[in-house]
Amino acid sequence: MSILLAALLLAEPNAPVMSARIEREENRLVATLSLDEPSNVWLFERSAIDWDEEQPWRPRSFEVLTPDVELRHVGHHDVLLSTDGGPVPSEVRIAVTPFTADLQRDYTPVLAFTDGTMAVYSHHFVLAPVADVDTVAAMTMDRDSGPPLRRPYPTVTFCDADGVLVEGVRQRCTSVNEGRYALFGAGEPVRAGPLTALIDEGLPAWMADSSRDTLLAAIDYYTERFGTPVLGNPTALIVWGGATPDRTGFGGSSLDDMLLLRFEGAALQSPEPRWRRALTRHLLHETAHYWIGQQVEYAASSEAWITEGGAEYAAIRAIGDLVSPGAMQAELAGIWQRCGEWLERGPLSTARQRGDGRAYYDCGAVVHHLLDHADSGDRYFAFWAEQLAAMPAPTPYPLARFTTNLETEGLATAASIIRWMNEGPIEDPQRLLAGLAASAGLDVPVAPGDSLSAWIAPSSPTP
Ligand SMILES: [Zn+2]
Repeated sequence: MSILLAALLLAEPNAPVMSARIEREENRLVATLSLDEPSNVWLFERSAIDWDEEQPWRPRSFEVLTPDVELRHVGHHDVLLSTDGGPVPSEVRIAVTPFTADLQRDYTPVLAFTDGTMAVYSHHFVLAPVADVDTVAAMTMDRDSGPPLRRPYPTVTFCDADGVLVEGVRQRCTSVNEGRYALFGAGEPVRAGPLTALIDEGLPAWMADSSRDTLLAAIDYYTERFGTPVLGNPTALIVWGGATPDRTGFGGSSLDDMLLLRFEGAALQSPEPRWRRALTRHLLHETAHYWIGQQVEYAASSEAWITEGGAEYAAIRAIGDLVSPGAMQAELAGIWQRCGEWLERGPLSTARQRGDGRAYYDCGAVVHHLLDHADSGDRYFAFWAEQLAAMPAPTPYPLARFTTNLETEGLATAASIIRWMNEGPIEDPQRLLAGLAASAGLDVPVAPGDSLSAWIAPSSPTP
């Protein structure tokens, strides 16, 4: 090959800038990063903080083995730097102690099963070269505030002598080019009807039984109403985080065709009615994301209330049909009450900046409740079934498309209510919500109260 041709190939604009290889060594992982461009600073594309300590997780998990390279947390993001100020070497090895706790608004780095099986998320090993540390320091928590993402997506390769399971196939090495979980260890998801599941053997027996039954019922319920999911049958990974004494946790997220569920807490060892209710509600919400969240994707994180509220309202409808109408009424009362209080603090578009992420669930569900009762009623599942039928693949669904489609469906009032909640100005939201509920013929309470206090994290700003 001529030198000129080699230079042209190196400059290939569509080549990924790095790749990663992840191998298991006993109870830890070793990551080998190949950094294919000279750069003094490499930025990890995802750097969420954990829920409990609200701290960066990588310093507690990653130990850089390559000499003269350090992991540093700059502003809101993790970076790799060389200690002599020059370019980071083209190969960097990192020993990874699995970090198994939940992160805020990001995928759990490692889902650790009691039998030693580990599900490892690929995208936490993806980096991008950046100009300097100051560029990173100027970024907000949002990755989009930094340099534009360079694509194609880097390849992350998982290897293990006993095989790694990715998307149902076990191989010695498997490469992925997008965010995926790879399963190391003996755990093998089992198929039963429309559900494939790997359930932690440490999970309290009542939770294992109830999770399986509820997921199967939920898949049937939603398939009948939303339609056959384009992603095929879901695979659920259900992990037991342990009988932690002071903490009861219901974690959940979805990724491609996977539902990822993590439960923990000594309190969950006995099947009290309140825990049964909480588990059912949680599973109905997470399963609804298989349609509203995975097939209908949010287009911008500030619009995630469409999918969070959509899944929340789907769960409330399912509670009405699968649990009891009374339980549904109690849920509806809760979302209206809390939504009024969230809106007192400002519109939805800026809720997350205020630390009011829960507003997405409550007000997003209120929006869908109003949609359901618009016109002749029972419009929620019909509306989304029609939207889903027009999506042969997962598709971002911007707010403008939502409101335009509502107008096309003759639901112009619902569209204007949504714009108001999203953008404001919000004045006297309790009175306006009460008026909306009354004109829609809904019997729900809207009055100032203190129902929000349970949802607001101590660190969020107070109004
Ligand atoms: Zn959700």
